[in-house]
Amino acid sequence: MKILCIGRNYTEHIRELGNEVPEDIVFFLKPDTALTKGDEDFYYPDFSDDIHYECEVVVKIDKTGKCIPVEYAKNYYSQIALGIDYTLRDIQSKYKSKGLPWTLAKGFDYSAPVSDFVLLKDLGKDIQNINFSLKKNSETVQDGNTAYMIHTVDEIIAYISRFITLKTGDLIFTGTPSGVGQIAKGDVLEAYLEDKLMLKQTVK
Ligand code: MG
Repeated sequence: MKILCIGRNYTEHIRELGNEVPEDIVFFLKPDTALTKGDEDFYYPDFSDDIHYECEVVVKIDKTGKCIPVEYAKNYYSQIALGIDYTLRDIQSKYKSKGLPWTLAKGFDYSAPVSDFVLLKDLGKDIQNINFSLKKNSETVQDGNTAYMIHTVDEIIAYISRFITLKTGDLIFTGTPSGVGQIAKGDVLEAYLEDKLMLKQTVK
């Protein structure tokens, strides 16, 4: 199982970090050891002083596929969840300035909590019209809708699968809306899909 993550997929978030809108889809990987459950606590590691939350819709791949045409991409998923793409912003900034890979900033252990999955057919909503939000200490800090993705889920699947075979159980983090920010010990993060609490973590 691999975890693929899309970067820079919501315009307002690109602006808040001062980045350029990329021409192609930007993606990176987290190892499977990054994955945790959405109801586990997050233990602040000692190798960063600036960790950010990025709440994202996560798509689970249902079957193996390579070079998937965009019009068939819908056949390759049926479930979504919410996840947090924890990012060591201090290390990422240092590596970005030197043109080095982000692997450590994004792929450290427990950097990818993911909630339980829900079937899209049970949700009864189009995957490109889903509201999701993140509260930090009961205050809403991120409030997104998948309608505002620059690249749709189907486009992402078509693009990635040109280069990397997607396999059953792979997870795709689809990018974060604006409002990313720092976490500190004691913070409580709660992620909502529509009005349903999906993920809750305390930072310890
Ligand atoms: Mg992200």
